[in-house]
Amino acid sequence: MAAYDFNAPRLFVEAPLQAGARVELDRAQANYLLNVLRLRADGHVLVFNGRDGEWLTSIAVEGRKAADLVCVARTREQAARPDLVYLFAPLKHARLDYMVQKAVEMGAGVLQPILTQRTQSTRVNLDRMRANAIEAAEQCGILSIPEIREEENFAKAISALEPDRLVIFCDEDASVSNPVEALSGSGNRGVGLAVVVGPEGGFTDQERAIVSAHQRCLRVSLGPRILRADTAAVAALAIVQATLGDWR
Ligand code: SAH
Repeated sequence: MAAYDFNAPRLFVEAPLQAGARVELDRAQANYLLNVLRLRADGHVLVFNGRDGEWLTSIAVEGRKAADLVCVARTREQAARPDLVYLFAPLKHARLDYMVQKAVEMGAGVLQPILTQRTQSTRVNLDRMRANAIEAAEQCGILSIPEIREEENFAKAISALEPDRLVIFCDEDASVSNPVEALSGSGNRGVGLAVVVGPEGGFTDQERAIVSAHQRCLRVSLGPRILRADTAAVAALAIVQATLGDWR
């Protein structure tokens, strides 16, 4: 990883970024920089918008409540979003917040909530998911916010995946065998990835049949213990990134 300044505050913004561009901060961002971090006119802030890389900016303060940022120099080039779709049954509140943050840290490029037969939380707050994704990206030096899709019926979400995408189906009922070996097969290299994690109640046999019918489904076990869904998310994304993704 390139040398990275973890001391500078880092913000996600919507505005285009280029040398000299002025970025208007919203009230919450201005308040955070001026009153929480107590930055002054000579302060520096890193910004990214998911399109134009990361920029070092200086603060142009206007009173105590408003500030703009002015782009000084590009610190990192924009990287493509990882080609990794994370499909998950939404959990309740704090555990969904956690799962979204961790999935972003682990490099998911698309977050796709799936409504399975045993999904408990069927109303998904997409704004809250986006806020969690932004926070994780800001804190972890990530350059793009994942695409956040609306919740979708499980069968439809699976059938919308491209036939050549490798669908890594985390199934608590799969007999235990080494997932690293299963993923490392040479035929799995260089293709788009999808990781599927179910609800606390687990998958039904009908759902197992739906996902197994995908042309490139790889059913994996995450060991002899049942993991909670948010733990399964981190474990699955770690082995997928290490064998086929951007950890190599
Ligand atoms: N209630 C279910 C467990 C669901 S755990 C039961 O008791 O059987 C939630 C999700 O995490 C599962 O649907 C699966 O996708 C994933 N998961 C948890 N433990 C797993 C394991 N040992 N192997 C594979 N996937 C697992």
